[in-house]
Amino acid sequence: MRGEAKDVCGRLARRQVYLYKSEEDFVVGVGTTSIDMNLGNVKEVDKKSFDLTTPYRTFSFITDHEQERREWVEAMKQSITCALSNYEVAQRIWSEESNRTCADCGAPKPDWASINLCVVICKKCAGEHRSLGPSISKVRSLKMDNKIWTEELIEVRLPGSSILCEY
Ligand SMILES: [Zn+2]
Repeated sequence: MRGEAKDVCGRLARRQVYLYKSEEDFVVGVGTTSIDMNLGNVKEVDKKSFDLTTPYRTFSFITDHEQERREWVEAMKQSITCALSNYEVAQRIWSEESNRTCADCGAPKPDWASINLCVVICKKCAGEHRSLGPSISKVRSLKMDNKIWTEELIEVRLPGSSILCEY
């Protein structure tokens, strides 16, 4: 897949698109740009090309085949849906004041949680929790493990009952 003037390779992760300057960079994983899909929107331009628009930039992609274009557009749309739902989960959890700082160290915007201890924690503390083992603390990312954040679990983190949870 090519984008704009110079050739790039694209890789679509679950919630981000990574762009690489060359196939070599692609193989070693040195990305030039990553695009957060919760800010993205995909627009089909013609049979072989499409645009990925973000608030700061529009990326134009040209594929070799119509089929390839279709697959990329489809995958990107899925990625956006997925990114949005995760983004919403994090926003909803942060809407409760006590969830805006790490329960262990007080760091702002903690994006991890211990789902059995029912606390929101930062990345560093998540590492410490994890080292205790899952029988003591089950650590999940607010942004990455969207499946674990069922409605029920989110509800109990909403204002009024942020620390109770059924698990
Ligand atoms: Zn912390």
